[in-house]
Amino acid sequence: MCTGTAVANKDMIKITLPDGAVREYEAGTSALDVAKSISEGLARKVLAASINGEVWDATRPVNQDASLKLLTWDDTEGKATFWHSSAHLMAEAVEASFPGVKFWVGPAIDKGFYYDMDLGDRKISEEDLALLEKKMNELAKQSNPYVRKAVPKAEAISYFSEKGDEYKLDLLAGLTDGEISFYTQGAFTDLCRGPHIPHTGFIKAIKLTSIAGAYWKGDEKNKQLTRIYGVTFPNQKELDEYVLMLEEAKKRDHRKLGKELGIYTMDDNVGSGLVLWMPNGTVIIEELEKLAKETENAAGYKRVVTPHIAKESMYLTSGHLPYYADSMFPPMEMDGEKYYLKPMNCPHHHKIFDAEQKSYKDLPYRIAEYGTCYRYEQSGELFGLMRVRCLHMNDAHIYCSKEQFAQEFRAVNEMYIKYFKIFGVDKYVMRLSLHDPEKLGQKYVNEPELWKETEEMVRKVLIESNTPFVEVQNEAAFYGPKIDVQIWSAIGKEFTLATNQVDFAQGQSFKLSFTNKDNQPEVPLIIHRAPLGTHERFIGFLLEHYAGKFPAWLAPLQVKILPISDKFMDYANTILQTLKNADIRAEIDDRNEKIGKKIRDTELARVPYMLVVGEKEMNEGKASVRRQGKGDLGAKDLNEFVSELVAEIKQRRAE
Ligand SMILES: [Zn+2]
Ligand SMILES: [Zn+2]
Repeated sequence: MCTGTAVANKDMIKITLPDGAVREYEAGTSALDVAKSISEGLARKVLAASINGEVWDATRPVNQDASLKLLTWDDTEGKATFWHSSAHLMAEAVEASFPGVKFWVGPAIDKGFYYDMDLGDRKISEEDLALLEKKMNELAKQSNPYVRKAVPKAEAISYFSEKGDEYKLDLLAGLTDGEISFYTQGAFTDLCRGPHIPHTGFIKAIKLTSIAGAYWKGDEKNKQLTRIYGVTFPNQKELDEYVLMLEEAKKRDHRKLGKELGIYTMDDNVGSGLVLWMPNGTVIIEELEKLAKETENAAGYKRVVTPHIAKESMYLTSGHLPYYADSMFPPMEMDGEKYYLKPMNCPHHHKIFDAEQKSYKDLPYRIAEYGTCYRYEQSGELFGLMRVRCLHMNDAHIYCSKEQFAQEFRAVNEMYIKYFKIFGVDKYVMRLSLHDPEKLGQKYVNEPELWKETEEMVRKVLIESNTPFVEVQNEAAFYGPKIDVQIWSAIGKEFTLATNQVDFAQGQSFKLSFTNKDNQPEVPLIIHRAPLGTHERFIGFLLEHYAGKFPAWLAPLQVKILPISDKFMDYANTILQTLKNADIRAEIDDRNEKIGKKIRDTELARVPYMLVVGEKEMNEGKASVRRQGKGDLGAKDLNEFVSELVAEIKQRRAE
């Protein structure tokens, strides 16, 4: 290669790496070149790169100074690029198998990707999916590069006109000349703005998961297209684990368990998304509320109760109207006034703060309520307990001065972590959403100093408390930084649980104030927090997390007494009375069934403890104890069993 003089003539650019190191490269260098200059091993893992905050192809030339972050499978954007590139690979396989197919869009989703396509009159079957997977594997092995090419609009139009693809022509109509690119891998070319992974060889494990119908542009007046969902991984092991997790998740589906265990129901005459809590579910609700009340009392909260409705004027003050109107139920009219079902508890709580004159000595003022809220979710969005229209929120608002904020926020954070311990949530991440200084006064309250201060305070608390967190720019709430809490269930399924928000705007809009130490009125900061989220979502999560096998303190029924025959009913009743006196939730299985069947049925109902009683137990004042998941624990003195169980419940132990 004779590049000696060419190199010397090239301009040099400065690349800033995430650790702050600045390196010089020739203009036109790519992220992949940068990775190679660091280590070959790293280069083999690079899927894409973030260039000045924008995700780019790792192979795309960089021509000016830039900050650069290499993205791998461990990064969310790396995964998204991997999955979107897999959608192209699937499209290539589909086109090879079904010539004449036309494609709409193929994005990455939370876990995997899909592509919408028009297959004409052809129907696609599950068997086709297996064939497509095979074809994709073949194509992946060719390690075909994803090649980007900038294309003038006229040329792009003529390419897809020739192909007769009206969907891509529709996309092109909305694009600006000069900003259009094609990507080609193997025999397949797509209109796409990218980015993509360097080549198909990264895709080592492929699963096409399902076929669905999807109206073009989501409009049911349009033609229905075929949507194929898939997921891919850089190794077979991760795919195998994922498939196992899916199977396990299916068994643990909260809608299935919720019905089997008599937790909740829904009824057409009540309405979609409106949960009816059955007696078993209500026990869980009451135990959760008891936990919340104990915890909040200890942390200095006071409890309040507020109505389910409020006048329009309140929601105009809060800003819910008109901005949030789409998510609210339509108003009721009475005496010439409009009333709305409350979508949030905050405004009612602000009014309670405001009802009495406050001085700095009254702060922090912490008020809590399991508040009932109503939100109008689209019917297509409703999903079991996870997306509902009536929700019961573990809500509280803390009104404090700036000086008190860090301490209060730390205490809230500790409360989250205390709860995670109780429920055995080992994996969690707090997503700290920050503002964008360029959007102050539009998307964000124009308080640059307060933004800086509170963001810094929140970050500090998270770091000091060793809480795992990620920062996201430009996703804060209008009125302050926001923390979304993501947790993972026992089998690794992800849930968004709750949010924790800092608010320096609503205090102003509601004209809240307290008299500070200098005898001046001051607007309080407000912390919105709901560590246990809503009953709906949290119990949905717990059902799947525990697979319905609740720890004793939460279990709707804690003990089932199984007499071997009718002869021992009197003794069973004595035991029942003893348990009830100790506030233990217990029942007798008095059916005329074999003991083996009684044990099996109680196991299916996921009752933590069974007490089997017969002749021997009766004569010795004992019971044979069986523990869910552990089997036979042998005969135990009744009083000993009761005092152990009472301690287990009181300490809210997992077992
Ligand atoms: Zn693409
Ligand atoms: Zn609130």
